[in-house]
Amino acid sequence: MTTHTSLPPHSRPLPRRRSWRASLVGAFLITVLAAVAWIAVRPDGTGGILPSAISEPQGTEGTGDGNLPDSGVTVDDTHLNAVARLDPELLEAVRQATETAADEGIEVRITSGWRSADYQQQLLDQAISTYGTSGARKLVQTPDRSRHVTGDAVDIGPTDAALWMLHRGPDFGLCQVYANEIWHYELLVEPGGTCPPLQPNAS
Ligand SMILES: [Zn+2]
Repeated sequence: MTTHTSLPPHSRPLPRRRSWRASLVGAFLITVLAAVAWIAVRPDGTGGILPSAISEPQGTEGTGDGNLPDSGVTVDDTHLNAVARLDPELLEAVRQATETAADEGIEVRITSGWRSADYQQQLLDQAISTYGTSGARKLVQTPDRSRHVTGDAVDIGPTDAALWMLHRGPDFGLCQVYANEIWHYELLVEPGGTCPPLQPNAS
């Protein structure tokens, strides 16, 4: 008789296959417990306990939602979503206009470009609290109708640049759209074309 076969059965190591299964069951139980704990601690059923740092930034200057500083940015600030998510043809038209304006001593800045739908709604909500619903709608478009949300509109500043764009924008296909917004431009015609009649406001 060998030493091996003389060992009592309970002292032999568990078969490898069984050990692997035990690990799998353990991992499964841990996953289930984690899921239960996750559901149990969610305060409102929407946000959960994930730190806000891993969700998309909201209302942070120049980041995810398209918010920009009042002084604006330039066409070269393509690291910002507000610029990077503009329609490429619109961005190119603004770039050419910016270069021509610079030659004439005017600095063109983008004070607003692409906006997330959430950010557009924030702007609308803020305007409603200040001007009331009908007043706000003359100034701020709804997210589903906003050309900023689709990346097809830019707001230009400061005032001298907006006034320059009012007269020279059509040379680059850039048109004022709303009579009450000298800063808002969209690419609506071929360069040198005739812009469509102004709408009184955004409502
Ligand atoms: Zn605008």
